[in-house]
Amino acid sequence: MKAILSGNEAVAQGAWEAGCHVAAAYPGTPGTEILENLGRFPEVYCEWSPNEKVALEVASGASIAGARALSAMKHVGLNVAADPFFTMSYIGVNGGLVIVSADDPGLSSSQNEQDNRWYAIHAKVPMLEPSDSRECLDFTRAAFDISERFDTPVLLRLTTRICHGKSVVETGERVETAVREYRRNLAKNAMLPAFAKQKHYMVEKRLDDLREYGESSPLNSAEMVDGAEIGVIASGVGYQYAREALGDGASFLKIGFSWPLPRRLIREFASKVKILWVVEENDPFLETEIRAMGIPCFGKDVLPVVDELTPAIVARAVLGKKLAQALEAELPPPNRPPLLCPGCPHRGLFFPLGKKKDVIVTGDIGCYGLGSMPPLNVGETTICMGAGFSAAIGFQKAGEKAGRNQKVFGILGDSTFFHSGITGLIDAVVNKSRGVFVIMDNRITAMTGQQENPGSGRTLSGEDTVALDIPKICEACGVRRENIHVVDPYDLKASGEAVDRAWAAEELSVIVTTRPCALLKDVQKEREGLKCSVDEERCVLCGACLNLGCPAITKRGRIVIDQAACNGCGLCVQVCPKKAIGREGEAR
Ligand code: SF4
Ligand code: SF4
Repeated sequence: MKAILSGNEAVAQGAWEAGCHVAAAYPGTPGTEILENLGRFPEVYCEWSPNEKVALEVASGASIAGARALSAMKHVGLNVAADPFFTMSYIGVNGGLVIVSADDPGLSSSQNEQDNRWYAIHAKVPMLEPSDSRECLDFTRAAFDISERFDTPVLLRLTTRICHGKSVVETGERVETAVREYRRNLAKNAMLPAFAKQKHYMVEKRLDDLREYGESSPLNSAEMVDGAEIGVIASGVGYQYAREALGDGASFLKIGFSWPLPRRLIREFASKVKILWVVEENDPFLETEIRAMGIPCFGKDVLPVVDELTPAIVARAVLGKKLAQALEAELPPPNRPPLLCPGCPHRGLFFPLGKKKDVIVTGDIGCYGLGSMPPLNVGETTICMGAGFSAAIGFQKAGEKAGRNQKVFGILGDSTFFHSGITGLIDAVVNKSRGVFVIMDNRITAMTGQQENPGSGRTLSGEDTVALDIPKICEACGVRRENIHVVDPYDLKASGEAVDRAWAAEELSVIVTTRPCALLKDVQKEREGLKCSVDEERCVLCGACLNLGCPAITKRGRIVIDQAACNGCGLCVQVCPKKAIGREGEAR
């Protein structure tokens, strides 16, 4: 049957068709929808794990036990999962194991622009790179077969445009695969040094076998154009851009099985063209290998290493001319400063914290990172998930050494706390940090689109489950009960007092703010009737309400609260010194 699917949906469909039994992930843009879609198939056990390392370990265990398993993550997630990833290369698989890395050239939603193709070389595993949704489906199916045939995990590498772009796919039926027999085999599955050493020989031999397989794999294909002098070697979305820019003016070698590279195929293609280009986003991954083979080519000496490519960039580089206007489409999107939503509960903690003197705030990945933007301006660092806490420890210790009188507040969210913040908290307790750790618990993983987490009381499939109690966990980690402050961030007075208490404390303190994300459906329904509005007669235009950074409040000669955006959180009511803002309506 034909269907129009995004790349993420097609990977999910392909995994289901391939008979995948188990899938685990931590949500991360641009790959979040893979698990969301796979979770719709009852034949596949799907879970949101607390982090990518756990997710890959769950999938690895399932694979060793004989099930076909998949783990999906965004590019930086593979850093977290790198530990099991490298060792699973040595262990190999029983049931097929596919690891999806959704990379983000152009940093649409990420803290760096790393090119995860290097992970395939580093971990010595095969990599497939689909160029559209149809290939996402086909390559996912192929990845399971390659995994079992060569006893290896397979890296399926996507990028943002492949994940989110839609194209026509031919869907099929699920091919039921039995969970394979499992037999205890320490030499294969327990990577003690003596066994691992033997396994390394196996891994090197496997790479040779895979290279040979790639030479004739249908995942690589050449399209020769009579009379064309230019030849392009490309993979993933780079192929699409080059195809669009150069059309029939060039021959193409499309590399779908992109590690190990099919060297004979490349040499043969290069020998048939006069000018060879390598078109790829970000790093010169293919190009480095091709140059190392002694084949001259153009690539990153002209094409940019930073940001996404476009057909226009490729045309300009390769042909030295502009594309027709219809293809140019290079108008940059308008710059919109990232802001917390109207009614976001995080604002209720950031506001009093921003007023405090002698405070350093280390932030983390998530909506709360937006607190560092004006006018709130709360936050100095954003490194990676969990670092909101652990960097705070370093800041605190460095400040003590320097004799600075600053209190360090480390901030992260509920999902990030479960992901890897918890280990920073343990470190702080054991190593006697005097900082303040803030957990902004909005009952969901908000920034990636509202996925469940260990605190939300629901599984990926929507079943009720245990909701972990964050204050109790903090206490169990060794924070003294009297130093744990739980506040409703919509109550500015309570938030301010919690900040004051924690600032003055001699010992490590924790503040847990509890208010669900304003975008949750249940919350929107509950708050449907609530709105704030300004009494112009009382307003003196002092601007105090604007300092909240609420997008619903603007100054257009007078102060206006956008009734469509406001959810009546009431923070502006609390900051107005003239009582000029009132709250109307009834929450349902
Ligand atoms: S999505 Fe939720 S948590 Fe994130 S900024 Fe909007 S209201 Fe706040
Ligand atoms: S805080 Fe009150 S008085 Fe000041 S500008 Fe806003 S509505 Fe007007």
